[in-house]
Amino acid sequence: MTPREDPRLAEARALPIGEVAERLGIAGLKPPQAIERVGPCPVCGGRDRFGINTARNVYNCRHCGGGDAIALVELVKGCDFRAALDWLMGAREVEIDPAELARRKAAREKDARERSKQAEAARRNAIAQARAIWQACRPAEDSPVRDYLARRGITKALLPALPDCLRFHPDLPYMVPAAGNRGSWREIHRGPAMVALVQAPGGRGSGIHRTWLDLGQPKGKAVITHDGETLAAKKTLGSVKGGAIRLARSQGTRAMVVGEGIETTLTALVAGGLPGAAYWAGISLGNMAGRRITRGKGMRYAGMPDLDDLQAWLPPAGVEHLVFIQDGDSDPRSTRAQLLSGLRRARARVPSVQRISIVHAGEGRDLNDVLMGDDT
Ligand SMILES: [Zn+2]
Repeated sequence: MTPREDPRLAEARALPIGEVAERLGIAGLKPPQAIERVGPCPVCGGRDRFGINTARNVYNCRHCGGGDAIALVELVKGCDFRAALDWLMGAREVEIDPAELARRKAAREKDARERSKQAEAARRNAIAQARAIWQACRPAEDSPVRDYLARRGITKALLPALPDCLRFHPDLPYMVPAAGNRGSWREIHRGPAMVALVQAPGGRGSGIHRTWLDLGQPKGKAVITHDGETLAAKKTLGSVKGGAIRLARSQGTRAMVVGEGIETTLTALVAGGLPGAAYWAGISLGNMAGRRITRGKGMRYAGMPDLDDLQAWLPPAGVEHLVFIQDGDSDPRSTRAQLLSGLRRARARVPSVQRISIVHAGEGRDLNDVLMGDDT
């Protein structure tokens, strides 16, 4: 019997990922009761690059990749699939009576339905909240958003009109899940914020991206601390996967430049390397990459997309040349693997895409060189 046919497989995969993480000694994921909990990776460290999602029953590390409970055991124990399964389910080949097996299967399916119902309700709620915030915003023009972007080198002279997908909120609350009280939230900061609309592939607004501002800080972003930790000044709300912030042009372009953040992407836009191109912010590296195939020897950095991920981001039909911007601030090998995954998915799934390129932000090699030069 090969491990893939092992009858314990479904049962192992259905074990709650939170419990598996606890059994593996992964501590300090926050917030403790939330569906999504983040913290340091048990393997590669960091501060918040690792997370589990109890609704989807998966884990992900921005560096090591992600997967189900079995993959998590493989990652943490450094063992193979079979050993991970043995560790999770106990090594004995137990004989269980068919009625008991059927009962367990039904219980698993009920749990899964319950989890997905909860996740769907949470998703709808977040989209409604995002929409309400977006509608309460005012135009970004002549607001502190201008000053914030100017500080990042994106001046009014370089970008005379701000994109419609950017707005300003004068007093936006920053909420965190309340400790020990599932489903309730607590405000830990409020202040001015740049709010960007996230659009789903069809163009419908599905979420927002928020950057809390404090022009008194060197980088113009608010410094938000909670329980002695500095939290990210940027957060998304709503449904973001597969979406993008459409900073310049949306449809009908043959070239598209996608950076992770709003600032990086606008910097590329005002640098003006690709005339007529669309410039979209991909929100996060994970969103640009989609699900990857990381299991197997040498696969972690191979940049192979999992083409079964049907929710992953794709450029619109008609784009022929897709350029991803690689930021300099994270692990270059892992970042490149993620960007390659997204680019290769686009080439495989969108027939018009013929060229894919990676351009390094701030490396002195401008977009025009990429347009004229070599391909990835
Ligand atoms: Zn890791």
